[in-house]
Amino acid sequence: MTLDVLAIGAHTDDVELGCGGTLISLKDSGYRTGIADLTDGLLATRGDEETRMREARIAAKIIGAEERFQLHFNEGSILSDPMNIYNLATLIRRTRPLMILAPYWEDRHPDHIDASRLIQTASFWSGVSKYGDKLPPYRPHRILFYHIHWEGPVSLVVDISSTFDLKLKAVRSYRSQFLPQAGSDKMTYISRPEFLEKLISRARYYGSLIGAEYGEPFFVREMNRVEDLMKWAGEQGVVG
Ligand SMILES: [Zn+2]
Repeated sequence: MTLDVLAIGAHTDDVELGCGGTLISLKDSGYRTGIADLTDGLLATRGDEETRMREARIAAKIIGAEERFQLHFNEGSILSDPMNIYNLATLIRRTRPLMILAPYWEDRHPDHIDASRLIQTASFWSGVSKYGDKLPPYRPHRILFYHIHWEGPVSLVVDISSTFDLKLKAVRSYRSQFLPQAGSDKMTYISRPEFLEKLISRARYYGSLIGAEYGEPFFVREMNRVEDLMKWAGEQGVVG
């Protein structure tokens, strides 16, 4: 199956947190979106395998992804196995996305850092004709980097005002991670109420920068080329 956009995360909830609203907007515009989780996230403090897989399926349905891939790489050592590059490059060649959404390379969780590096490496080798097996080479046109925990540089903000409620619903479907559990005293960084409040505040903040209710920020490594400066100015609209 081919996709327009492939969003990749280290763990099953990264994509929802970092770029869920954008994925829903793209789906609403008729694009084919997919999600790839590099690990199954079983080192997380809370949630067993069956629970985490079920939550990921529910979230993917809310987001409207055509498919959700699970690559089963080992947490804590995403970069140590050369087969991880090969397996991700193979997935990129199979799905041939125009654009990849990836975590930014500086963040609180080491797996997010390693995932960012691996995705860039696999995207490069995927386009090298003599690399890998018989699948034709393919290189995504763009990698857009999303932020999960830490703030980072931002090149553009996507207006997600119309999809933010659904994004939040997708995030909340990870009940084992983000909602207080009855009878459990294992409170974590992401299960505290402040975490979701921060997610909402941040979306409001980035939305305000583009004159929208909610926004999702991305960083693009390459310089953006503008052909027609006046057309570009007209498309931007008036913001504060
Ligand atoms: Zn994560």
